[in-house]
Amino acid sequence: MESNKKSPEFNFLEAALVKRTELFRECINIVVGKGNFNSDILFVGEAPGRNEDEQGLPFVGAAGKNLDKLLENVGLSLEDIYVANILKCRPPMNRDPLPEEIRAHTPWLLKQIKDMQPKVVCSLGNYATKFFLSGGEVDKMKEQPGITQVHGQPREIELDGVKFKLIPLFHPAAIIYNRTKLTPLWEADMEIVKREIGRNNLS
Ligand code: URA
Repeated sequence: MESNKKSPEFNFLEAALVKRTELFRECINIVVGKGNFNSDILFVGEAPGRNEDEQGLPFVGAAGKNLDKLLENVGLSLEDIYVANILKCRPPMNRDPLPEEIRAHTPWLLKQIKDMQPKVVCSLGNYATKFFLSGGEVDKMKEQPGITQVHGQPREIELDGVKFKLIPLFHPAAIIYNRTKLTPLWEADMEIVKREIGRNNLS
């Protein structure tokens, strides 16, 4: 696959911020998102991994396959959601995102939220959850509670003038390692998501 790094469609301010980061120099593709941008639900993960970087799409590796399965189990598909990440480029060796990288990459995520106007944002795992709980203030992310404490608890968030319900979910990669315990919790949390958007009779 050809790299999208020079794509002329990424000529806006928020993309320029991403392109100034070291991560951009080292990645193959900018990973923007996939799914239905006109849906009511936005899922936000952490960062692209190796497969995502190679294909230019989020959640196509092991975590992505698990996400597909988890969605299918609750009667949803990529038609019902859009998926993006906090970081748009892969961190080398899949290391954790650095605060300055989150600061440089999330204006693009906020632009996606403004354009999409989702009713519900599901933050997948700790990084995305802490970003939203801190109101986008990266310095305050460390003070936020972890996903185990807040999963499935909806709260109203207003970021950059856009209001939505945040519903934190366990990250699909974490569920791979603790399937028996976390899958039923994820499914119960997704019932809350579906109720929020008036789709509780789907599955
Ligand atoms: N994990 C993430 O958080 N995002 C991806 O795109 C893939 C794996």
